[in-house]
Amino acid sequence: MVKYTITSRFQATEAFRDHPHTGVDLAMPEGTALKAIVEGVIRTADYGSSSTGKTVFIDAADGRTYIYGHLKDFSVSDGQSAHVGDILGHSGNTGHSTGPHLHFGIKEHGEFIDPTPYTSLIQRMDQLKGAAHATVNSGLDALEMLNQALSQFTQTLSEMTLNCISLLLENRTVSLISDIVLSWLC
Ligand SMILES: [Zn+2]
Repeated sequence: MVKYTITSRFQATEAFRDHPHTGVDLAMPEGTALKAIVEGVIRTADYGSSSTGKTVFIDAADGRTYIYGHLKDFSVSDGQSAHVGDILGHSGNTGHSTGPHLHFGIKEHGEFIDPTPYTSLIQRMDQLKGAAHATVNSGLDALEMLNQALSQFTQTLSEMTLNCISLLLENRTVSLISDIVLSWLC
């Protein structure tokens, strides 16, 4: 589902920039509630009419910083913990911006990395609440972890069943006690 059109991609070079784009721009109406896609600790900055204007940073447990720029207002304050789905503020057109949009970026080890894989979470930010809670770092991780856990569980279960069946079949000739021990073990 693509709700917000990407108007500028990561590392795009455009006439109005003096450096390659450090994030992804998503066009959206001013006042759109921006939700956290990861858990972490909040920092805010207001760069006035330059850079990303009113900006929210989420310092996440994965060591990355998730950046939301050009906000109209903040709904969070410095040092606060944010959970997935929490409203961080509302989108706007502050800073160096040519129209209402969200600038979304990710910084890792001091470098901007390509946030494109995470823009699907921005597209779905309204549905994220409750999907990823407590122990996971991000909605993406939560979905991956859930899928992995489910497939591992199914695989283990079928392997266990097969092993037990073959063990029980191989040991048909041994005593009743072994059979009982095997069925208890399996
Ligand atoms: Zn941008």
